[in-house]
Amino acid sequence: MRRERNRSRVVAALRESGAASRAELIRRTGLSRTTIASIVGDLREEGLLVERDGDGSASPQGGRPARLLSFSRSAGAAIGIDFGKRHLRVAAADLSHTILAEAKRTMDTDEPAETGLATASELVDEVLEAAAIPRDQVIGVGLGLPGPIDMRYGRVGSSSILPGWVGVRAAEALGSRLGMPVAVDNDANLGALAELRWGAAADHRTAAYLKVSTGIGAGLVVDGRLYKGTGGMAGEIGHTIIQEQGDVCRCGKRGCLETLAGAAALVELLQGTHGPGLTTQGLLDAAAAGDSGARRVLADAGRHIGTAVATLCDLLNPELIVVGGELSAAGDVLLDPLREQVHRNAIPATTRELEIVPGVLGPRAELLGALALVLASRNGAEAARR
Ligand SMILES: [Zn+2]
Repeated sequence: MRRERNRSRVVAALRESGAASRAELIRRTGLSRTTIASIVGDLREEGLLVERDGDGSASPQGGRPARLLSFSRSAGAAIGIDFGKRHLRVAAADLSHTILAEAKRTMDTDEPAETGLATASELVDEVLEAAAIPRDQVIGVGLGLPGPIDMRYGRVGSSSILPGWVGVRAAEALGSRLGMPVAVDNDANLGALAELRWGAAADHRTAAYLKVSTGIGAGLVVDGRLYKGTGGMAGEIGHTIIQEQGDVCRCGKRGCLETLAGAAALVELLQGTHGPGLTTQGLLDAAAAGDSGARRVLADAGRHIGTAVATLCDLLNPELIVVGGELSAAGDVLLDPLREQVHRNAIPATTRELEIVPGVLGPRAELLGALALVLASRNGAEAARR
């Protein structure tokens, strides 16, 4: 029994880090050198682990670089799925965190959840085939959706940007379609998870990830862990009121941040001058080419976001804000006014050590987070198969 538990801890630690030396496994699990050696020996004998030379840096004591252990292909695979307003991305990775195949599809907006789930299921088949992964090797599927997920009931909340999904128990619905265990989370939470694991927030204890796309949401990291709040609704920063008498938001309130700084709002502002066919990408391209109207609306959006982020800083006192999502591609055109507004509106002491940086994982952050959701899951830690 204890041996099983110890083995689960080693498997979980290795799955979470992708590759680790024996010394790291000892540190991460708190198990003794002998126990680690014995469990690693078993896993290797079963063909589940491979060993390779580390990155060449010598160990602190001098001597040879530590050998790194990671799961072999036969140990299993994870699937990540990311739904946006207009896209669907799917990836398959092995347990050493190597992406083996990816697929992307453009989606019509406002489709019913059924259509989205059917397409997701098709793309899962596609990546499994491309990576030659048998279905029974998949240890789990991570699903990211652009809306709040009520963790108590597993349902998509009413302010989701995908109206066809409201009230749907997405993990259950996709799980029964695929015949695989599915874990679901909000897309901004997954972006935070990915930037924390592999990106700009690595090694940070208290941080927030902002997803600035059609919707605006935040994933909050407190003491090195994702903070979800009671029921999983934390981080809905896009519905902070910026203008009491502003436009009506899809959540039913008026003047939410999203109605002023979401991609759809910015595109709408420019359609009069830049043509009705303007897209978010068109707006970003125009700004990059120096178009003053496009740069102006992005700068104003940055300021509005900064107003909300200043409050977040006063409440959370983070060391880092990572800005991701479609509009983050605007770079400093968006970020400089955002930084300025944060420093203007927050208590100086809460932002003294604050850094505001763009995400490093780009448009794939949420997809990678969906994979991290499976890889970092403590449930079924015994997923290295026997
Ligand atoms: Zn709102």
